[in-house]
Amino acid sequence: MADVIIVGAGPAGLTAGLYAARAGLSAVIYEKELPGGQAGRTDQVENYPGFPQGIGGPELCMAMAEQAQRAGARIEYAGVEEIDCAGRRVRTAQGWDSARQLILALGARPRTLGAAGEERLTGRGVSYCATCDGAFYRQKQVAVIGGGNTAGEEALYLANLGCHVLLVHRRDALRAEQAVAERVLREERIEKLWNSEVAAFEGERALEAMTLKDGRRVEVAAAFVAAGRLPETELVRGQLRLDEQGFILAGEDCRTELPGVFAAGDARRKRLRQIITAAADGAVAASQCL
Ligand code: NAP
Repeated sequence: MADVIIVGAGPAGLTAGLYAARAGLSAVIYEKELPGGQAGRTDQVENYPGFPQGIGGPELCMAMAEQAQRAGARIEYAGVEEIDCAGRRVRTAQGWDSARQLILALGARPRTLGAAGEERLTGRGVSYCATCDGAFYRQKQVAVIGGGNTAGEEALYLANLGCHVLLVHRRDALRAEQAVAERVLREERIEKLWNSEVAAFEGERALEAMTLKDGRRVEVAAAFVAAGRLPETELVRGQLRLDEQGFILAGEDCRTELPGVFAAGDARRKRLRQIITAAADGAVAASQCL
């Protein structure tokens, strides 16, 4: 039995693995995809200290994974299908695995808009990750929906690929941090459609256009939805206290109400969701496992 099972190999989980292993604990990190989580799908990270020129999200996350493994943490590439919080065990296709402590670094996923045609055209022009899919649409007219940091960064990324970007935001001001917002406002290749919301995504086989709620129809080859995140906490619902959006209620010490069960990173209710705050949670949670 391992000392610590960590679910999720984003910055929170990888940092938890690093700290646990360096403290002499045996740590297993379960991950269903590649290490990095959302940060691993970010093109450029400009606000993680130590990288004055910025660093690619995948590069940063692969380095975190390597560091955790060098310290002795083990990454198991297997999807966790069930979590028994009170029993501090997880089930994968290989069966149950239990540990003395459990760190839930479950992360978050993109929020959908619920617009007509969105689900049908997802993967056919409707996307939730410009870094992943943007390169298919170089020089084309595309849309980004949202007004936060993700929307701003994705719009800049697409403009840099030569796209004409329609930034569709439901208000007339961005909520993105000032440095990002200023660049977006200055960038001529980003056309701002303020006070606008998507009513429907249209296209037979692939996205061709969007209809906005005011009736306007705009042709786009792709639409990148950046409307915030929802926590990946379905597997612990009913076992731990969650807020109304599903984020785990754990304190700054990452402790949940169950002994030996910790929540770290974006799935925990907190005010600032950044790579550095996720990593900080991982360190804090692991330090409580001693
Ligand atoms: P966010 O800050 O929650 O922004 C979501 C945006 O989507 C908001 O502008 C919101 O509009 C809009 N929105 C939400 N639901 C919508 C709907 N149904 N229809 C239309 N628009 C909708 O999300 P985020 O940008 O993904 O960022 C998530 C967290 O990660 C934040 O804490 C953010 O700071 C952080 N992050 C940081 C960085 C960075 O520091 N470089 C990069 C990416 C993400 P309103 O403004 O009207 O609410």
